[in-house]
Amino acid sequence: MTKSKRNLIERLNSGPVICAEGFLFEIERRGYMRSGEFVPMVSLEHPEALENLHRDFQHSGSDIVQAFTYNGHREKMKVIGKEELLEPLNRAALKIAKKVADNPIGKEPNLMAGNISNSNIWNDKDKTKNKEVEKMFSEMVGWAVDEGADMLIGETFYYAEEAYTALKVMKKTGLPCVITIAPMAQNIMRDGVSIVDTCKELEQRGGDVVGMNCFRGPATMMPYIKEIRKALKCHVAALPINLRTTEEHPTFFNLPDNNGCTCHSPYKTAFPTALDPMQCNRYEIGKFAKEAFELGINYLGVCCLANPMLIRQVAEAVGLTVPSSKYREDMTNHMLFGTGKNIPNHQKDYQDKA
Ligand SMILES: [Zn+2]
Repeated sequence: MTKSKRNLIERLNSGPVICAEGFLFEIERRGYMRSGEFVPMVSLEHPEALENLHRDFQHSGSDIVQAFTYNGHREKMKVIGKEELLEPLNRAALKIAKKVADNPIGKEPNLMAGNISNSNIWNDKDKTKNKEVEKMFSEMVGWAVDEGADMLIGETFYYAEEAYTALKVMKKTGLPCVITIAPMAQNIMRDGVSIVDTCKELEQRGGDVVGMNCFRGPATMMPYIKEIRKALKCHVAALPINLRTTEEHPTFFNLPDNNGCTCHSPYKTAFPTALDPMQCNRYEIGKFAKEAFELGINYLGVCCLANPMLIRQVAEAVGLTVPSSKYREDMTNHMLFGTGKNIPNHQKDYQDKA
């Protein structure tokens, strides 16, 4: 590869950087993952599906190709009885991400990001497992460096100390580090640290980009993002989920379907299989991105329930033109609502009765 490649910080210093996340829901929706256990076996079982997913997001403007290793950690592989596939799964996901990142549609290569995230065994009341978590992070970060990651992303942490541990492990590599937290509905980290204080601490500990991802839609993420932006000097990240979360239900875990649902999910909650009616429209996602960008936040994206159309919306909301902008909406020639001269009047006249 001969093309020059700016690092993450250089890119952020000169403008917005887009990062698609939320692969878990999108791959499940495409039929390559079991909902509930949510293990990204796709890198081994259907590598072409994962490559296509990355290419679709790249086509819609994602500057970062994040290796799909979310939940691909030792603990989760133990839970499903496939611990022997841990390293092959991680390396396969990293290689696919690298391949896509090094073959951009535009002139400049994308950045390949290694990824670690919430372990689900971190416990501030029983610290015996926490050393194991640090080891899990270390082995995954090691594989990411080995496979040529340009940067690292630690994401979806709901314990402050777990996020600090992830950052400590990532920092040892010398690569640019993004660290984002995902507080649950009590609006505080589970070990009692406030959202803003956690972010301040992450900046102090050397996070290059600090912010929030996942669990919250635009409405319940934005208030914290504003505070975080004010409190920090470093670059800030904002990647909400694509759902209309509310003050009463700030995260997707207990978000109810009050949209006239006639056939509820067989579980206690609409999460994770019946959330569709609560999705934001593209304009709501674009509005969030624009507002965040105007606050001075340059690291933008969408997490769970993201799709390529929404990533294009984010990119265009902050003034970028991306390959898929070629296909952005244009109602001029719609059969009923079109305004073009080739649309017959008897169709235009029928709009309100359609
Ligand atoms: Zn997410």
